[in-house]
Amino acid sequence: METVSRREVLIGSAAVLVAAGRVRPAYAQAAPPSAGTADTALVEDLVAANRILVDQGVVDAYGHVSVRHDKAADRYLMSRSIAPELVTAADIMEYDLDSVPVDPRGRALYLERFIHGEIYRVRPDVRAVVHNHSPSVIPFGATGVPLRPLYHMSAFLWPGVPVFEIRSAGGAATDMLVRTLALGQALAKTLGAGPVALMRGHGAVVVGGSLPEAVFRSVYTEVNARLQAQAMALGGSVTYLDTEEAKKAQASVAGTIGRPWELWKRKALATLPGK
Ligand code: MN
Repeated sequence: METVSRREVLIGSAAVLVAAGRVRPAYAQAAPPSAGTADTALVEDLVAANRILVDQGVVDAYGHVSVRHDKAADRYLMSRSIAPELVTAADIMEYDLDSVPVDPRGRALYLERFIHGEIYRVRPDVRAVVHNHSPSVIPFGATGVPLRPLYHMSAFLWPGVPVFEIRSAGGAATDMLVRTLALGQALAKTLGAGPVALMRGHGAVVVGGSLPEAVFRSVYTEVNARLQAQAMALGGSVTYLDTEEAKKAQASVAGTIGRPWELWKRKALATLPGK
């Protein structure tokens, strides 16, 4: 009974917003068919990824991580809209690339889910996406100072880190959120073929060929931003990894990503209810 009444309240408030022309009525679209039950181990990794990103200071009560469905390239998995530290397997939902949920059941959805769908649509190499408000990257999105690889752990930044300017895509008066398909497409275009894009006045999007890679990159993008700001504050000239160094370092470090992932995952899953 309680569930039914909460759903009625949610649908009621959504209807008011739709009538006011403020949101796109996602539930009005026919729910897409499911691609099938996702691999249990993949769902467990996604739950772990949510908790790891909190542990590592990349997300707080905001931010989200998704993974492409193991059974269909045109589906992805992501939690319903709750704080990442609270995510369990029961919260994971399946979406199509328009970011329409397969089985909404009245659950609240992340407003910025379009970030994920639009990146999966144009980046077949990407299997995981993180959106965060990682604090140390914010100044780089706001100043025009480029984020560059300062040390070997963040060598993957060598292609450059573009900055998404939402005013260019959404006009002068957005609320800064990537809350539409069009804004998601514009952000995916800014990201291009790279691993990371900053979002001016907001945060970042980080992608990877796997969940461990996207999490690793999110963690070390945050660390690099902190260290780079410290290096710049010292006042001398800063030497960054050059492209050749960075490519070699990236290749070496890539083979070791399993090490932190194993550690982080063990600690993260130990915090799950019932563990
Ligand atoms: Mn956001």
